[in-house]
Parts: sequence; C-alpha cells; structure tokens
Amino acid sequence: MAAPNEKWLYEKTKDSIFFINILPRHDKHGAINDLMKTANHVEEGKREEFLNGDGHCATGFVVENGPDLLKILTCAHVIEHVYSATDPVSTHDCNRVFITQVLCDHSELSFRRPGQNAHPQRVYAKGRIIGISCEDDLLLIQVPREDVVDLDEICMRNHPHLTFPSTQPAAFDVCAMVSWPPLRHRTAVIGRVSHTSRSFDDLGQENPVGYRMNLMEVRIGSELGSSGAPLVNGNGKVIGMLHGGFRDAFSYFLSLNDIMLFLAHRGVVVIRKFLLLLEP
Ligand SMILES: [Zn+2]
Repeated sequence: MAAPNEKWLYEKTKDSIFFINILPRHDKHGAINDLMKTANHVEEGKREEFLNGDGHCATGFVVENGPDLLKILTCAHVIEHVYSATDPVSTHDCNRVFITQVLCDHSELSFRRPGQNAHPQRVYAKGRIIGISCEDDLLLIQVPREDVVDLDEICMRNHPHLTFPSTQPAAFDVCAMVSWPPLRHRTAVIGRVSHTSRSFDDLGQENPVGYRMNLMEVRIGSELGSSGAPLVNGNGKVIGMLHGGFRDAFSYFLSLNDIMLFLAHRGVVVIRKFLLLLEP
C-alpha cells in the first residue's frame, strides 16, 4: 500500500468529528440507580460517583448528513454503568435518564479564537440516542441540524458523513485517527493494524459488561475521551471505531463488520456494500 497522505486524511476527517458528553439527569438518579442495580457490575461506591459526576465524554463521527438531521456514531460504554450484554438498556430509557450533548469541530475553533470573550461557555447541541448495542459497544445519536451552533449562529459549515470501504482491513495497513479527548480538539495520530480480530480472552482482559465483539488491534496511541473515534485507512474510509486502549502501545477497535451490521439494521448504510463485506 502506498504511504497515505496524512494531511489529506486529516483534512478529510476533521469536519466530521464531534465531542460527545452524556450526563445523568438530576431528577432521574433513582431510575439510574435501579438500572445500575440490574446491570450489577458497578460497585456501590462508584455508582454515587457516576450519578454525581459531570457525565462521561467520548468522540463521535458523522455517519449520515441529512438536510435536517445529523446521525453520529460513538461508543456506548460511556453509559455502561446502566447495562450489561444480558440486561441491555433501551434507547427510550437512555433518553429518559440521560442528557446527550454534542459539539462540532467548528464551534470549538470559534470558541478558542483569540479575542473571543463574548461566549464564556461552550454551547452544546442536544442529541437524542436512537440506537444502542450493549453487546457491541455502539451508540447512535441524532441531532437536529439547526441545533448545531457555532457560538450564537447555526453552524453553516459542512459536517460530511464518513464512508466505509468495500474491502476488509489487514495486518500492517496504515491507518489514522482524529479524536477529541476533553479540551484536546483535533488530536491526530497515525498507526498500523496489528491484528484484525482479538477476543477479550486473548487479551486477558476482564469483561464485566459481557461485551461479545472481537476487537481489531492497532499500534496507535489513544486515551480516555478518544473512545468512539473513527479509524480511517489510507483512502479516508472508516475501518474501525475506538473501544479502548488497555495495553501499552496498542489500542482496540470495533470491527468494520460490527459497525456495518449495527448501522445497516438502523437504515444508515447501503445494504449492498454491507453484503459484499460479509463475503469471505
Ligand atoms: Zn460545525
């Protein structure tokens, strides 16, 4: 494979990246506690911490860019306290007990512009959770286009949807990731695929939620808040989504097939391409 042009990949990806923050509704602590008790994998002491915190954040990316709505894919594990693979939570319950906030790339640039002092607080758009896989760590959020604001106006910039390749990634493929950990907008890294399918057992990793997916192993840096970021190949196509980085030097990604299955079931990607991918 030819060496990718990193700067081209960066330009092609950055406008599609969103910052996501999901926080408990103050008046729903009882309901959230009940969900955590049912899921039964968060220690009691840590349940309070989750309820009283400022929420958990992740990176997301646009998978559908309609005239009125944006659909953004991210990881579900920011709210994994309230589910397990065997006791999944519904999108209805998610929206009942959590507030979902998103920020676009352009609003962050404007917020940080030197001399900008008219807006001391970031203005988040309110999203609605429309899909969740508690087995595979995937979350789909919908945001009204007119709610995505750049300081005090609707953001007029494009938020293009990222697309998927028709071939599977392979070991040694060069890949890149742009993520948004808290306060670290546009964190860009490059790496190489190490292995396309590791199980949690292969990694000696505890799995209290009971996630059932295998993970693509990639030699690339990541950290808290990068979860949900897209991993793109040299053509700028999404080949994975960050789950986490629990080993030095490596990070672990949801596979292309799991992402495509999840989105296809929710009408987001073209079925024809999805079927091609499932062929051996
Ligand atoms: Zn924008």
